[in-house]
Amino acid sequence: MMNISDRASALPLSAALAVDMRARAHSAAGQDVISFCVGEPDFDAPASARRAGMEAIEAGDTKYTPAAGTPALRAAVAAALARDCGLRYDASGVVVTTGAKYAVYAAVLALVNPGDAVILPAPYWTSYFHILRLAGAEPIVVPCREGEGWKLRPAQLDRAAASGARALILNNPNNPTGAVYSRGELTALAEVCRARDLLVIADEIYSRLLYTDEPFCAAAAVDADMYERTVTIGGVSKSYAMTGWRIGYAAGDETVMAAMAAILSHTTGSPNSMAQAAARAALLGTQDGTERMQKSFRRRRDALVGALNEIPGLRYTVPQGAFYVLLDVSGFLRENALKDETDFALRLLDAEGVATVPGGDYGAPGCLRLSFTLEEDRMLEGVARMRRFMERTGR
Ligand code: PLP
Repeated sequence: MMNISDRASALPLSAALAVDMRARAHSAAGQDVISFCVGEPDFDAPASARRAGMEAIEAGDTKYTPAAGTPALRAAVAAALARDCGLRYDASGVVVTTGAKYAVYAAVLALVNPGDAVILPAPYWTSYFHILRLAGAEPIVVPCREGEGWKLRPAQLDRAAASGARALILNNPNNPTGAVYSRGELTALAEVCRARDLLVIADEIYSRLLYTDEPFCAAAAVDADMYERTVTIGGVSKSYAMTGWRIGYAAGDETVMAAMAAILSHTTGSPNSMAQAAARAALLGTQDGTERMQKSFRRRRDALVGALNEIPGLRYTVPQGAFYVLLDVSGFLRENALKDETDFALRLLDAEGVATVPGGDYGAPGCLRLSFTLEEDRMLEGVARMRRFMERTGR
């Protein structure tokens, strides 16, 4: 057997995968499984995007493009960021990547040296942690509390940065908590970033799926200093239901974008050419589909939290963005001698056929992540089953 590298062997098998595999086995055995694990919208890509993708194939637009993306798509991303967030970038301040995930990875590689510390507020999207590790960086995990809306406080950031961190990864709206930072909260964090000279990687891929009264505020839109020190990450996966098309992007300082383009040129090469044409159409075309999705997820969020409210012993903060709610079940685990949240998730799956994502991989031990991307009646049925499981398991 060949030995794999230390780097690869440090990547753990996720608990989510264990749940997913068992859920598939239950389904294959004929059990009706309700899965709250899905991290993508249950909508189709906009018609304009699908058409543009097909036209690109028919027109032979199927060759390599520049590694940083086509000039047309880079300009479209710049236009969309101006329209949606008031951010001003030239096309040369944008690079297009194979999914936003790779934009995060390339930004980390471009900004962070091996051994550099990077502040990662928890709960976090699990890939950030492993991206930092793969890049040889040291994640400084800062736990945020449910009672504080799962948000990073300026004093916490200041303490974490005191030992000389290089950067902060700020995910707004957040996966898995749905927390959204207001302009005021971002301004307070920005003061610390300035004082501690932190670079900011702001992953704002869920910024169009927002349920707040206030409009979205991008980290780079706080002030001129934040604009200078921030790389903004986004993509079409979530806002346009285009997860399989694999188009993400980053925007920021042109020197950083050039460094990212060099990294892309030697790793993924250019993103998929027809998907770039489709993403451009999605960004520049009618935004009705995104608005419909936002309204639909808002309705489903309300239905889900309404149902969860009826179950005693669950703690959660109502999500203000994205399509996840993070349930703190740590009290229930303690009271009923369950080992951890994965134990809860697997027992729930076995007993009631309800699949959830254990929070440990997301820096949220004692918690479960539920997506509200499924039909409302399925969600309500899933919550009813969860309640039954908790009543039967509870002492
Ligand atoms: N960033 C966050 C916070 C996510 O939750 C995800 C996907 O789950 C991504 C980035 C990845 O997006 P993409 O599918 O464009 O790679």
